[in-house]
Amino acid sequence: MNARDVWAVFTLLFVLAVAVFSAFMINSGEEPTIVASMATAAVAVYLYVVYKRYRVELVPEDDLKLFIDPEDLAILCDIYGLPSVGSPSRLMHRLALQSRAHADQHFIWVAPRLMRRIPSGLAVGPEEDFGEPPEDAHELVARMVSDNALGKRAAMPLVWGKRRSSVRLRRMTACPICDSEVTHRSLVCERCGADLEFYDALAESRIGHRLVAEKGGVRGKH
Ligand SMILES: [Zn+2]
Repeated sequence: MNARDVWAVFTLLFVLAVAVFSAFMINSGEEPTIVASMATAAVAVYLYVVYKRYRVELVPEDDLKLFIDPEDLAILCDIYGLPSVGSPSRLMHRLALQSRAHADQHFIWVAPRLMRRIPSGLAVGPEEDFGEPPEDAHELVARMVSDNALGKRAAMPLVWGKRRSSVRLRRMTACPICDSEVTHRSLVCERCGADLEFYDALAESRIGHRLVAEKGGVRGKH
Protein backbone atom coordinates (compact mmCIF):
# COMPACT_ATOMS: atom_id res chain seq x y z
CA MET A 1 0.00 0.00 0.00
CA ASN A 2 1.50 3.35 -0.97
CA ALA A 3 1.05 6.67 0.85
CA ARG A 4 -1.78 7.73 -1.44
CA ASP A 5 -3.78 4.58 -0.66
CA VAL A 6 -3.07 5.03 3.06
CA TRP A 7 -4.54 8.54 2.89
CA ALA A 8 -7.57 7.28 0.95
CA VAL A 9 -8.28 4.76 3.74
CA PHE A 10 -7.64 7.37 6.47
CA THR A 11 -9.96 9.83 4.77
CA LEU A 12 -12.72 7.24 4.38
CA LEU A 13 -12.43 6.33 8.07
CA PHE A 14 -12.47 10.01 9.08
CA VAL A 15 -15.57 10.76 6.99
CA LEU A 16 -17.31 7.65 8.39
CA ALA A 17 -16.43 8.68 11.96
CA VAL A 18 -17.80 12.19 11.36
CA ALA A 19 -20.99 10.72 9.83
CA VAL A 20 -21.51 8.35 12.78
CA PHE A 21 -20.87 11.14 15.29
CA SER A 22 -23.25 13.47 13.41
CA ALA A 23 -25.99 10.83 13.41
CA PHE A 24 -25.47 10.35 17.15
CA MET A 25 -25.73 14.11 17.78
CA ILE A 26 -28.92 14.42 15.69
CA ASN A 27 -30.42 11.43 17.52
CA SER A 28 -29.58 13.19 20.78
CA GLY A 29 -31.77 16.11 19.75
CA GLU A 30 -29.25 18.52 18.24
CA GLU A 31 -30.38 20.72 15.34
CA PRO A 32 -29.59 18.74 12.12
CA THR A 33 -28.54 21.82 10.12
CA ILE A 34 -26.01 22.87 12.78
CA VAL A 35 -24.63 19.33 13.05
CA ALA A 36 -24.39 19.08 9.25
CA SER A 37 -22.52 22.37 8.92
CA MET A 38 -20.08 21.42 11.71
CA ALA A 39 -19.50 18.02 10.10
CA THR A 40 -18.86 19.68 6.73
CA ALA A 41 -16.41 22.12 8.32
CA ALA A 42 -14.57 19.27 10.09
CA VAL A 43 -14.18 17.34 6.83
CA ALA A 44 -13.11 20.48 4.94
CA VAL A 45 -10.42 21.32 7.53
CA TYR A 46 -9.20 17.71 7.49
CA LEU A 47 -8.95 17.66 3.68
CA TYR A 48 -7.19 21.04 3.60
CA VAL A 49 -4.59 20.05 6.19
CA VAL A 50 -3.90 16.65 4.61
CA TYR A 51 -3.71 18.06 1.09
CA LYS A 52 -1.41 20.92 2.06
CA ARG A 53 0.91 18.94 4.28
CA TYR A 54 1.10 15.48 2.78
CA ARG A 55 0.99 16.15 -0.94
CA VAL A 56 4.38 17.58 -1.77
CA GLU A 57 6.35 18.41 -4.89
CA LEU A 58 8.46 15.70 -6.45
CA VAL A 59 12.01 16.87 -7.09
CA PRO A 60 12.74 15.84 -10.71
CA GLU A 61 15.65 13.46 -11.18
CA ASP A 62 17.74 16.09 -12.96
CA ASP A 63 17.24 18.62 -10.15
CA LEU A 64 18.49 16.17 -7.50
CA LYS A 65 22.03 16.95 -8.66
CA LEU A 66 21.54 20.49 -7.33
CA PHE A 67 21.32 19.21 -3.74
CA ILE A 68 25.03 19.01 -3.04
CA ASP A 69 24.77 18.95 0.76
CA PRO A 70 24.37 15.32 1.96
CA GLU A 71 22.25 16.63 4.85
CA ASP A 72 19.68 17.87 2.32
CA LEU A 73 19.51 14.44 0.70
CA ALA A 74 18.86 12.82 4.09
CA ILE A 75 16.12 15.35 4.90
CA LEU A 76 14.51 14.86 1.47
CA CYS A 77 14.51 11.08 1.99
CA ASP A 78 12.96 11.57 5.42
CA ILE A 79 10.18 13.81 4.09
CA TYR A 80 9.41 11.40 1.27
CA GLY A 81 9.33 8.47 3.70
CA LEU A 82 12.42 6.81 2.24
CA PRO A 83 15.19 5.43 4.48
CA SER A 84 17.37 8.41 5.39
CA VAL A 85 20.51 6.54 6.41
CA GLY A 86 23.42 5.57 4.21
CA SER A 87 26.06 7.21 2.09
CA PRO A 88 25.21 10.31 0.02
CA SER A 89 25.32 8.25 -3.17
CA ARG A 90 22.88 5.75 -1.72
CA LEU A 91 20.53 8.53 -0.57
CA MET A 92 20.77 10.10 -4.02
CA HIS A 93 20.06 6.77 -5.68
CA ARG A 94 16.93 6.25 -3.58
CA LEU A 95 15.64 9.70 -4.48
CA ALA A 96 16.50 9.21 -8.15
CA LEU A 97 14.62 5.90 -8.27
CA GLN A 98 11.58 7.55 -6.75
CA SER A 99 11.72 10.51 -9.17
CA ARG A 100 12.06 8.10 -12.08
CA ALA A 101 9.11 6.01 -10.87
CA HIS A 102 6.88 9.12 -10.71
CA ALA A 103 8.45 11.04 -13.58
CA ASP A 104 5.03 12.07 -14.92
CA GLN A 105 3.92 13.64 -11.61
CA HIS A 106 4.66 17.05 -10.10
CA PHE A 107 3.29 16.13 -6.67
CA ILE A 108 3.32 12.90 -4.70
CA TRP A 109 1.67 11.84 -1.47
CA VAL A 110 3.82 11.20 1.59
CA ALA A 111 2.79 9.30 4.71
CA PRO A 112 2.81 10.98 8.15
CA ARG A 113 5.98 10.34 10.15
CA LEU A 114 4.16 8.22 12.71
CA MET A 115 2.95 5.85 9.97
CA ARG A 116 6.43 5.44 8.56
CA ARG A 117 7.63 3.85 11.81
CA ILE A 118 5.03 1.10 11.42
CA PRO A 119 6.50 -1.68 9.27
CA SER A 120 4.28 -1.92 6.20
CA GLY A 121 4.39 -1.79 2.47
CA LEU A 122 5.00 1.95 2.58
CA ALA A 123 8.68 1.63 1.72
CA VAL A 124 9.52 1.80 -1.96
CA GLY A 125 11.30 -1.52 -1.84
CA PRO A 126 13.92 -3.50 -0.01
CA GLU A 127 17.37 -1.99 0.22
CA GLU A 128 19.03 -4.83 -1.68
CA ASP A 129 17.03 -3.89 -4.77
CA PHE A 130 18.95 -0.66 -5.13
CA GLY A 131 22.14 -2.23 -6.38
CA GLU A 132 25.12 -0.12 -7.33
CA PRO A 133 24.52 3.64 -7.55
CA PRO A 134 24.64 5.04 -11.07
CA GLU A 135 27.76 6.75 -12.35
CA ASP A 136 26.38 10.29 -11.98
CA ALA A 137 25.92 9.72 -8.22
CA HIS A 138 29.63 8.95 -7.91
CA GLU A 139 30.40 12.19 -9.70
CA LEU A 140 28.12 14.02 -7.33
CA VAL A 141 29.92 12.68 -4.26
CA ALA A 142 33.23 13.68 -5.81
CA ARG A 143 31.87 17.19 -6.24
CA MET A 144 30.61 17.28 -2.67
CA VAL A 145 34.08 16.76 -1.28
CA SER A 146 35.66 19.14 -3.72
CA ASP A 147 37.11 22.24 -2.08
CA ASN A 148 35.68 24.63 -4.63
CA ALA A 149 32.18 23.11 -4.67
CA LEU A 150 30.78 26.28 -3.18
CA GLY A 151 32.21 28.44 -5.93
CA LYS A 152 30.78 26.18 -8.62
CA ARG A 153 27.47 26.10 -6.82
CA ALA A 154 26.78 29.78 -7.41
CA ALA A 155 26.83 29.06 -11.14
CA MET A 156 24.38 26.15 -10.83
CA PRO A 157 20.73 26.62 -11.75
CA LEU A 158 18.00 26.52 -9.11
CA VAL A 159 15.38 23.82 -8.62
CA TRP A 160 12.38 23.55 -10.94
CA GLY A 161 14.10 25.67 -13.55
CA LYS A 162 13.95 28.87 -11.47
CA ARG A 163 16.51 31.46 -12.46
CA ARG A 164 19.07 33.11 -10.25
CA SER A 165 18.49 36.83 -10.00
CA SER A 166 19.95 39.73 -8.11
CA VAL A 167 16.39 40.83 -7.31
CA ARG A 168 15.88 37.70 -5.22
CA LEU A 169 19.13 38.31 -3.36
CA ARG A 170 18.40 41.98 -2.75
CA ARG A 171 15.02 41.38 -1.16
CA MET A 172 16.40 38.75 1.23
CA THR A 173 16.98 40.04 4.73
CA ALA A 174 18.04 36.83 6.50
CA CYS A 175 19.61 33.50 5.61
CA PRO A 176 16.83 30.90 5.11
CA ILE A 177 18.89 28.33 7.01
CA CYS A 178 20.55 30.05 9.99
CA ASP A 179 18.48 33.27 10.08
CA SER A 180 21.58 35.46 10.30
CA GLU A 181 21.51 38.82 8.58
CA VAL A 182 22.28 38.89 4.86
CA THR A 183 24.88 41.46 3.90
CA HIS A 184 24.21 41.31 0.11
CA ARG A 185 27.97 41.10 -0.46
CA SER A 186 28.01 37.36 -1.07
CA LEU A 187 25.91 34.71 -2.83
CA VAL A 188 26.39 32.41 0.14
CA CYS A 189 25.61 32.97 3.80
CA GLU A 190 28.70 34.31 5.53
CA ARG A 191 27.82 32.44 8.70
CA CYS A 192 26.65 28.97 7.60
CA GLY A 193 27.77 28.87 3.96
CA ALA A 194 24.28 28.20 2.59
CA ASP A 195 23.62 29.08 -1.05
CA LEU A 196 21.14 31.89 -0.36
CA GLU A 197 19.29 31.89 -3.70
CA PHE A 198 19.05 28.11 -3.82
CA TYR A 199 17.37 27.78 -0.42
CA ASP A 200 15.22 30.88 -0.89
CA ALA A 201 13.85 29.51 -4.19
CA LEU A 202 13.51 26.03 -2.70
CA ALA A 203 11.51 27.33 0.27
CA GLU A 204 8.81 28.58 -2.12
CA SER A 205 7.71 24.95 -2.55
CA ARG A 206 6.01 22.85 0.11
CA ILE A 207 8.78 20.29 0.25
CA GLY A 208 11.43 23.01 0.20
CA HIS A 209 9.73 24.88 3.01
CA ARG A 210 9.86 21.73 5.11
CA LEU A 211 13.46 20.98 4.16
CA VAL A 212 14.59 24.49 5.05
CA ALA A 213 12.66 24.38 8.35
CA GLU A 214 14.22 21.02 9.29
CA LYS A 215 17.71 22.07 8.23
CA GLY A 216 17.37 25.33 10.17
CA GLY A 217 16.04 23.40 13.19
CA VAL A 218 19.01 21.04 13.10
CA ARG A 219 21.34 24.04 13.22
CA GLY A 220 19.51 25.62 16.17
CA LYS A 221 17.84 28.40 14.21
CA HIS A 222 14.75 28.36 16.42
ZN1 LIG B 1 23.18 31.00 7.07
